[in-house]
Amino acid sequence: VLRQVAGFMEPVLEKASATLTLDIAADLPALPGDSGQLTLVFGNLIDNAVKYSALKHGAAGGTVVMTAHATPDADFNQPGVLVSVVDDGPGIAREHLPRLTERFYRADKGRARAVGGTGLGLAIVKHVVMRHRGRLLIDSVEGEGTTCRVWLPAATLAAVPARRSA
Ligand code: ATP
Ligand code: MG
Repeated sequence: VLRQVAGFMEPVLEKASATLTLDIAADLPALPGDSGQLTLVFGNLIDNAVKYSALKHGAAGGTVVMTAHATPDADFNQPGVLVSVVDDGPGIAREHLPRLTERFYRADKGRARAVGGTGLGLAIVKHVVMRHRGRLLIDSVEGEGTTCRVWLPAATLAAVPARRSA
């Protein structure tokens, strides 16, 4: 899935003159999951990394690194895979971090409007990660960049039923 997403994102990377480096460990355990939904997760994270890095790097484009490695039981209480998407973009101010996965929430509205988007990307990411019983961790240092990490459990667990919403 990760390699496929990197392929799908090729035109986006090219347009922004950004580079994406993949570092995928060879010993990843198989994960139960919905590959279409997970494609959305990693596609959105790469899209954000490229889109917001352009605010800092302009036509030069940013540098995005996506890594994946197996995690020992001790890290998240069970075996799994941790995928990180790291950019060297403008970062996100600390006060915005807790609200980023709310629907339609955009940090720094003026700048975000210029970039384009609806503010749904991370809400979708969070939703899909939760349905896979995973974890989403977003760390950022203003001026330096952002790291989004998705951890997914390797164990086969019953899917979380979709929540009905009005
Ligand atoms: P959409 O994804 O729907 O096109 P969006 O990118 O604005 O729109 P999200 O992906 O949910 O929405 O991101 C929410 C906000 O978080 C963004 O508006 C942006 O302010 C901030 N953000 C997300 N990822 C990054 C990043 N890698 N670097 C800097 N800011 C980011
Ligand atoms: Mg987005």
